[in-house]
Amino acid sequence: MPGFEIFGEEERKHVQDVLNTGVLFRYGFDGARQGHWKAKTFEQTLAKRANVPHCHLCSSGTAAVGIALAACGVGAADEVIVPPFTFVATFESVLMAGAIPVFSEIDETLCLDPKALEKKLTARTKAVMPVHMCGAMAQVDELKEFCQRKGLILIEDACQSVGATFNGQWLGTFGQMGCFSFDPVKTITCGEGGAIITHDQKAYELAQAFADHGHDHIGNDRGAEDHPIMGLNYRISELNAAVGLAQLLKLDDILAKQRANKDALKTAMSEYKHISFRKLPDKKGDSATFLSFMMPDESQARRITKKLAEAGVDGCFYWYDNNWHYLRKWHHLKNMKAAAKLPAQLFNHCPDYNSLSLPQSDAIMSRTISMLIKLSWTRQDLDKRIAAIKNIFDEHKY
Ligand SMILES: *Cc1c(COP(=O)(O)O)cnc(C)c1O
Repeated sequence: MPGFEIFGEEERKHVQDVLNTGVLFRYGFDGARQGHWKAKTFEQTLAKRANVPHCHLCSSGTAAVGIALAACGVGAADEVIVPPFTFVATFESVLMAGAIPVFSEIDETLCLDPKALEKKLTARTKAVMPVHMCGAMAQVDELKEFCQRKGLILIEDACQSVGATFNGQWLGTFGQMGCFSFDPVKTITCGEGGAIITHDQKAYELAQAFADHGHDHIGNDRGAEDHPIMGLNYRISELNAAVGLAQLLKLDDILAKQRANKDALKTAMSEYKHISFRKLPDKKGDSATFLSFMMPDESQARRITKKLAEAGVDGCFYWYDNNWHYLRKWHHLKNMKAAAKLPAQLFNHCPDYNSLSLPQSDAIMSRTISMLIKLSWTRQDLDKRIAAIKNIFDEHKY
């Protein structure tokens, strides 16, 4: 999965370009930068790949989600429907926008269940934010249809799924805005970085202004720029953008390698009739960063997770016990622990997350194991891994 496995000459060259000019800032310094615009080139390249008119590169995926919420007009006391299986950044960004995360069930796509949304609607519901987890898609066509029917904003957290598609269309392009992360362990990395993409010109303009103190970035005189809104600093540096640009140009190779490696594992595991797999609404569009499979029940999932670790099959995750990715162990959220006092509207309107019950999600997550797909595996590594897995499954008569 992670692009850091394949750093090479390309990353070094783009970083060296930037160091040679001395211009680490993404805006201005036109003469000094000798034609090197790493952030801008990244944005144009990603937008072209995703087939959208606008992309803005920023400092992290968390920043991207925050920027998307602001640019789409989600703010104080608005409710945003999110899944309980994601990275903490999703709900953090909602809370920091002054809005309220409302958790709704996932289905066997491991993403928001379109059929469960209706029950979560209130007069305050403003947006739905599906998270395309572990490299693959939610049932995004149905989520989009629901949002259109109800007049809600659709923001896609595609931080883990750059390059993945649904019916040939990039994830992140179905709603008003899509968000990506290029942190050190994502499919491609800037070191730290993120991006938003959108079809909406107005939302894009707000996003790029919000990400840089509200500067409008119109004209060449930075000092004379207007400030249509207030913002913050979520800028990327040219150094990070340079690493990301080299990685972005390798995306097709990365995806092809992941898909081949995943295919070999999945084919071998498909022989076992008591093992099922994550539902993929469009198999061809999977970016194949993980192979997620379901055991018949929780105790067997726990036993097999342990057996896999003992057999040296590394990179297996039992998310149900994981405090980064599943709500069950988000004690800081459940107790609303923040560094400083949160805005009053959050305390007035946030549900009690401690007593929240999501039985459908629990039933799925307690049976699910995800295996990280690596780029650096040799054929031998893969054969060894397959043999070790089959050994365990045979022993338990799956
Ligand atoms: C990684 C991730 C983020 C945040 O990205 P950062 O670049 O680490 O800030 C947000 N949402 C999801 C689903 C992620 O996996």
